[in-house]
Amino acid sequence: MFDIIIIGAGPAGMTAAIYALRAGKKVLIIEKENFGGQITASPRVENYPGFKSISGNEFADNLLDQITSLGVVTEVNVVTAVKKTAGTFTVETESGNFEGRAVIIATGVSHRRLQVNGEEEHLGKGISFCAVCDGGFYRNKDVAVVGGGSTALQDSLFLSDICSKVYLIHRRDQFRGETELSDEVRRNPKIELCLNSTVDEIKGLSVVESVVIRNKIDNSTREISVKGVFEAVGQIPENRQFADVIELDEAGYIKSDEKCLTSCEGIFAAGDCRTKERRQLTTATADGTIAALAALDYIRIRSN
Ligand code: NAP
Repeated sequence: MFDIIIIGAGPAGMTAAIYALRAGKKVLIIEKENFGGQITASPRVENYPGFKSISGNEFADNLLDQITSLGVVTEVNVVTAVKKTAGTFTVETESGNFEGRAVIIATGVSHRRLQVNGEEEHLGKGISFCAVCDGGFYRNKDVAVVGGGSTALQDSLFLSDICSKVYLIHRRDQFRGETELSDEVRRNPKIELCLNSTVDEIKGLSVVESVVIRNKIDNSTREISVKGVFEAVGQIPENRQFADVIELDEAGYIKSDEKCLTSCEGIFAAGDCRTKERRQLTTATADGTIAALAALDYIRIRSN
């Protein structure tokens, strides 16, 4: 029996683990694929207090080192359900169940897809969701980035150092992402802005060869020759597996209060997977702290 089972090993989940482990608890953290989560795709993190600049990978590695040295138990597995059973919880995975006194869900979000013609067949054949991971494959080649948030802006800047040209395709003429990043993008001679434009189709015989974009103002289309398309159009939560035990909002985010408590006593939610106004690295780690402290309170009250 674990004291706390944490589902998801991004910054929120790993921060929760630090607090729970330092309180002397037996902690299991279950991650389906990538310790560190989304932050590992960030080339430079420059808005986390105490670090002028650190790569997302290094930040995640440091967190993993920290919880490993504190004695966390790790499991790479896909969680399929959480069930409340006589005051404790059963976390079901694709290959076995785990029992815990409290559960913290920190599953983050996954990549939204463009859902355009040619996308499905070119996944892994020129379409990528991570510039840091895949950018190197496109050295000295032309690529497109789609989106107007901070991820799309950061990806464009990162790729402009590697690729010969970056087309940044955004459906509006204003960027949603940080002003500093959009200013830098606008100044970069290797980035061509394709604003007020949407992607109609991603083309190529076996791998990506071009992208067809449509200008929303005059409805004209243009085919741009590129070897890679980086989709950066936001994220969506993936919490359906918990819907039987906790309440989700219409968009699928976990409803939770100021203490990260969900609609089920003993289950807490931390980070991007929960309802909140701002989804940042700092707010994710803050949630991890709050959820862990609330879970510790919950365990203490029940054992008195
Ligand atoms: P985001 O802020 O949600 O931006 C998504 C972008 O994709 C928006 O520009 C949106 O257009 C566009 N979009 C959405 N659906 C689309 C579709 N179907 N077709 C075409 N375009 C579509 O996502 P994000 O950029 O991944 O950022 C997520 C969070 O992480 C944000 O809070 C961001 O601040 C944070 N972040 C921070 C940093 C950093 O360095 N500080 C880096 C990366 C991310 P509209 O603008 O028209 O809605």
